[in-house]
Amino acid sequence: MSAIWIKNPLDIFADGAEDGIVINDGVITELVPKGHIPVVDTVFDASNHVVIPGLINTHHHFYQTLTRAYGPALNRELFDWLKALYPVWANLTPEMLSVATELALTELLLSGCTTSTDHHYVFPGGLENGIDIQVAAAKKVGIRTVLTRGSMDLSVKDGGLPPEQVVQDVDTILADSARLIELYHDQRGGAMVQIALAPCSPFSVTKDVMTGSANLAQRTGVLLHTHLAETIDENNFCLETLGMRPLDYLEDCGWLDNQVWLAHGIHFTDSEIDRMAAAGVGISSCPHSNMTLASGICPACDLDKKGVSVGVGVDGSASNDASNMIEEVRQMLMIQRLRYGSVKVSHKDALRWASEGSANCIGRSDIGKIEVGRQADLALFKLDELRHSGHHDPLAALVLCGHHKADYVMVGGTWRVENGKIPGFDPSDLINRHSAAARSLTSLIDA
Ligand SMILES: [Zn+2]
Repeated sequence: MSAIWIKNPLDIFADGAEDGIVINDGVITELVPKGHIPVVDTVFDASNHVVIPGLINTHHHFYQTLTRAYGPALNRELFDWLKALYPVWANLTPEMLSVATELALTELLLSGCTTSTDHHYVFPGGLENGIDIQVAAAKKVGIRTVLTRGSMDLSVKDGGLPPEQVVQDVDTILADSARLIELYHDQRGGAMVQIALAPCSPFSVTKDVMTGSANLAQRTGVLLHTHLAETIDENNFCLETLGMRPLDYLEDCGWLDNQVWLAHGIHFTDSEIDRMAAAGVGISSCPHSNMTLASGICPACDLDKKGVSVGVGVDGSASNDASNMIEEVRQMLMIQRLRYGSVKVSHKDALRWASEGSANCIGRSDIGKIEVGRQADLALFKLDELRHSGHHDPLAALVLCGHHKADYVMVGGTWRVENGKIPGFDPSDLINRHSAAARSLTSLIDA
């Protein structure tokens, strides 16, 4: 064991750690108050860095990095956007999913993210082992992941939105979900890989998939995730086809409990927020995506006030066109100020949502905060760009002036990013492989 002192940070998002923190065996073991000198083996001089907990991304679709700024899907709202992209995604191959996962996770890591979830729900023929492919890619990058086994079994012919090639039947979905939990889900503190179950949305799966997933999750202790209350169209669709609002349907399927976190969560009534708070449901807000698709603004402050955990997700790169967590923090602050005013929402709220709030959403008390006993997952930023010059409060400047690139990132006590780079990693090689996969994916449609 060797103790390292992250010494004298320019600023730090933690109370009582003015002179830094001590890390031992991958865990935070001491917060260093002003003027105290701890006994350590090595020292990291953080006097030029703002130190925050590693950011936690609670919603994404890694494969969508292959369809960024895709012409036919531009300038559309959710349902038409999906209809434009499903035929493209139907041609996804194992090699494409692998390189897309590697690219998304690398981009996230470099933006200060140390844990990411993914929601993969497109399983065309040949991609049956999609989640296994993602586990391998995540291990290569060295970031923590919660990979959700997504699902769709309601295609166009059954009244759903997706084409038939990308859906599976309920038995296949549940059997593969059970296999993945058995093989990869790690319940222990400090877990690097966890599995959760994630039917795509109420309008793309049957009730059998919703209830079957809930039963399996309850038996095995994994979490449940889905998109919910993202658009007014979705609420209307649920009322027309299911005869109830999305949250009522969720409850009807046995999903209203503390094993559930939802993506977006925009169009709720006050009493629905109360019900989610009582049940312990968490919400992943995705500001870039919500602005791109003009879906609405998540009521984060109301959720927060009533005790619903609020996390932050970048969402798929086809609806965000980036996978950058520190940029998402800034957007979260701005869009929430637009809704609630500048007095109620501070840069600290946005940082808290993207760290501790996100950790709460995914049921993790071992990450998400700079606190003794938690994993040493950290992101360190320099404020040395033109946009930061003249700043006064460094922590506020990180969010208000904006940032896009961490200088150092630590996951479980190991430096994964040093001097803004991943040791031994060649970005141009990954960009070349990923761009070729993206061209190949859309060329099948364009031909
Ligand atoms: Zn999504």
